[in-house]
Amino acid sequence: MKGKNNMIILVVNTGSSSLKYQLINMDDESVLAKGLCERIGEDGHMNYKTEAGTVFDKDIALPDHGVAMQLVIDALTDKEHGVISSMDEIGAVGHRIVQGGYIFDKSELITDEVEAGIEELCTLGPLHNPTALLGIRAFKKVLPNTPGVVVFDTTFHRTMADECKYYAIPWVYAEKYHVQRYGAHGTSHRYVSERCAELMGQDPAGLNIITCHLGNGSSISAVKGGKCYDTSMGLTPLEGLVMGTRCGSIDPTVVSFIYEQTGMPVKEITDMMTKKSGLLAVSEISGDCRDITKAEAEGNKKAHIAREMLLRSVKRFIGAYAAELGHVDAMVFTAGIGENDIELREKVCDNLGFMGVVIDKEKNNCRGKEVEITGEGSKVRVFVIPTNEELMIAKDTQAIVEAL
Ligand code: ADP
Repeated sequence: MKGKNNMIILVVNTGSSSLKYQLINMDDESVLAKGLCERIGEDGHMNYKTEAGTVFDKDIALPDHGVAMQLVIDALTDKEHGVISSMDEIGAVGHRIVQGGYIFDKSELITDEVEAGIEELCTLGPLHNPTALLGIRAFKKVLPNTPGVVVFDTTFHRTMADECKYYAIPWVYAEKYHVQRYGAHGTSHRYVSERCAELMGQDPAGLNIITCHLGNGSSISAVKGGKCYDTSMGLTPLEGLVMGTRCGSIDPTVVSFIYEQTGMPVKEITDMMTKKSGLLAVSEISGDCRDITKAEAEGNKKAHIAREMLLRSVKRFIGAYAAELGHVDAMVFTAGIGENDIELREKVCDNLGFMGVVIDKEKNNCRGKEVEITGEGSKVRVFVIPTNEELMIAKDTQAIVEAL
């Protein structure tokens, strides 16, 4: 039933060949159903789960995003396995958009002007924005009377201070070509920093929090008074920490040097640094932290180096942000590695004793749960908070649609 206090929101995250979805009842923030359509435009695969568990997980023809969306709606409204009786019960659709660039400072109701803005930003987000537009347009066809909202990964970082937002290169590149730091994972940093303040029972306005989103892609943010002051990703998600397959920050002349030495086109070098570097390249085993930890335990030297590089980059950014903020009230670990890698959290925090960080090793012995791991006498409170970008998107969507 559509209604102010009982809004049901469909959250979608469209990739070039995938569509992740969650149907959330905002009454109690419960997830009614969720799933993933994969290999769209190829052989097609779809799964659909409700509170009862997996309903189906099967190969199915998905020639384009429009067909995938229709099948999602069909599953949600199915007589036997559906969770709503008709698509009219969906009060709004919230879309995750990776790049909001220099145009969007907040989540927006989808209008022609907003779509044009997302289109203009395709140069900055060439991998993601075109597919997000596909998703928006396909949904407009399937649910023509349902309002849609876009929530950008970058808007949380729009409050970054000028000294963090810009690169120290001539202004013309920022002014004419929009070369500046946009960051990513903003919805996650925003969710965990807000949740952290809630768990501390304090107003975010009075807190300095360092949020560590450590997954396949990783970024760390310095959140001052509820607003992002600095973040580790830059013009693209390649900057910052060593990641699963991305190299993170390196001397920029590495690119021109490789080009001069090998003649490899710049686009291929970028591709190599994005998809074939990071933990995968160093370990020569995998970009997945679990595989690396296992190989390291078996005595593999390159896996050990990869793991140490990851630890070093997490420590460096936390240290840098502590120095930038001048004082830290709390730290949060989130995403696949942050939520599950007990040893990483322990090793990182053990190194932060100089800034008064103490964790409780027993409390830290947990995976994927919301828990405070602060130890006795710690000057900084430390939390593990599973991220929930979908809920954040749904909340923004609800607020915008209710205000219509
Ligand atoms: P994405 O950026 O693709 O959303 P995730 O947030 O799912 O990535 O994080 C994936 C990473 O989390 C992988 O490196 C994986 O090894 C790591 N991870 C997941 N579970 C565990 C675990 N139990 N212990 C250590 N690392 C884990």
